[in-house]
Amino acid sequence: MGVAVIGGGLAGLAAAIRLRERGWDDFLVLERGDRVGGTWRDNDYPGAACDVPSHLYSYSFAPNPRWTRSFSARAEIQRYIEDVAARYRLRERHLFDCEVLSATWLDDAARWELKTSRGSITADILVGAFGALCEPALPDIEGIASFAGPIFPSARWNHDVDLTGRRVAVIGTGASAVQIVPAIADRVGRLEVYQRTAPWILPRLERRYTAPERFAFRHVPGYQRLARNAIFWMHEAQAVGLARVPRMLKPVELLARAKLRREVRDPALRRRLTPDYTVGCKRILLSNDYLPVFNRPNVRLITDDITEVRGNAIVTADGTVHETDAIVLATGFRVTDSPTYQIIFGRYGRSLQDVFDDVGRQCYKGTAISGFPNMFLLVGPNTGLGHNSMIYMIEAQVNYLMDAVATVRRNGYRTVEVRREAQERYSRTLQRKLARSVWNTGGCTSWYLDKHGANTTMWPGFSFEFRRMTRSFDADAFHCRPAPGSTSRDTGQ
Ligand code: NAP
Repeated sequence: MGVAVIGGGLAGLAAAIRLRERGWDDFLVLERGDRVGGTWRDNDYPGAACDVPSHLYSYSFAPNPRWTRSFSARAEIQRYIEDVAARYRLRERHLFDCEVLSATWLDDAARWELKTSRGSITADILVGAFGALCEPALPDIEGIASFAGPIFPSARWNHDVDLTGRRVAVIGTGASAVQIVPAIADRVGRLEVYQRTAPWILPRLERRYTAPERFAFRHVPGYQRLARNAIFWMHEAQAVGLARVPRMLKPVELLARAKLRREVRDPALRRRLTPDYTVGCKRILLSNDYLPVFNRPNVRLITDDITEVRGNAIVTADGTVHETDAIVLATGFRVTDSPTYQIIFGRYGRSLQDVFDDVGRQCYKGTAISGFPNMFLLVGPNTGLGHNSMIYMIEAQVNYLMDAVATVRRNGYRTVEVRREAQERYSRTLQRKLARSVWNTGGCTSWYLDKHGANTTMWPGFSFEFRRMTRSFDADAFHCRPAPGSTSRDTGQ
């Protein structure tokens, strides 16, 4: 096998499409699920939708004139991803229900060996497209494992549990929770929302596209491209406030406060729903129906800390015992400590987790890591955005990957491995830029920061800067070692 791609989400699929376009059909996408889609396949909780507008949240090379709304619901996005996979006839390049158990670099053979639930595979190049928002983070609360009723993370919604008329608890108030809470509030009996930190919430400018608009997207040359570009640049402008000059976010905060005043009648409740950190420090959430839900008689906001789960109840620090029939854990994902890091072994048998524990989540251009030859990550460390579409970042990384593969094949390189000093220099520059961002200075904790408090998640600037940086493979930053007997230059010494 030439290239093994771990993960068949938006990133893995983009890589597969580009490999096929180049005529490099010696690749396989290893996917533990039974379909493409990644996080969009898994997150089928009630109300799941995207907070990036549809015409931007799609591949640039596969525009979709059929989007029905300005912001798409999850089912429409999943359908889009499956349609794109079918259009590029990629089914036969996927191994579904194939869980990667380990990926080990074999130095002598200069290959990756992957052990999977469907047997072993070796590959010259490994592409890690296993995603950031994929493994649910479960809260460490005393007694939670023995809760007497159904309990599940939002990303693994249990559709067999009928919540109608039940006493339901939602733990967490992030992007997932603000979609779930209004979606289930009118059918559950009582809903308790456990908030540790209040989120900043802005209006969601959502609407259905009219028939003439959809006609124009399909038939008027350039119209859809124009709409996409307009959305892109409107979002791109927000990078200035988030990454460079957080005080420019003040008008955003005023807008969010005005919205809260308009939507929540009770001043005491309003105070508890008001965040105490700079807007943008955590992801800014978009919702028109989350805050008003707290005016309903069957919905309660709980802000006392959870101390334990006992039998069929959640106990809070004020001593209240909240009897509960079902618990939804909207507590986020393991981003900076992905379990997949534990099963990828580079040079000297060291796992990605070991290396990250030593030097932090350093990753050159969010893609390459010293000690892991011929491996490229997609959606790797410091590629996250608070202001624009991740698909744009994915396409930029795939450009880089394609140029890397082309360079390897053109020059007959046996291995390419980023130079440690290039990686360290890159990381230092990144951290210096991040130091002034709202994510680092805004007075909150978030999943953007790792256990040492370093921001190893966000990209500190405009997304077009990332695209420019990843336009072509910079072999100078890599040790490029030729195959034995090859006449190509060894840049490694
Ligand atoms: P999240 O933003 O990490 O939110 C997790 C929530 O759970 C936070 O409110 C957190 O409180 C709370 N929490 C965690 N552990 C807890 C504990 N032990 N006790 C009480 N509360 C606890 O997770 P998410 O909502 O799943 O969203 C994750 C990311 O997914 C988003 O930032 C976004 O990038 C993406 N997402 C996107 C969309 C979309 O529309 N495109 C939708 C959903 C998700 P603290 O704030 O105090 O930590």
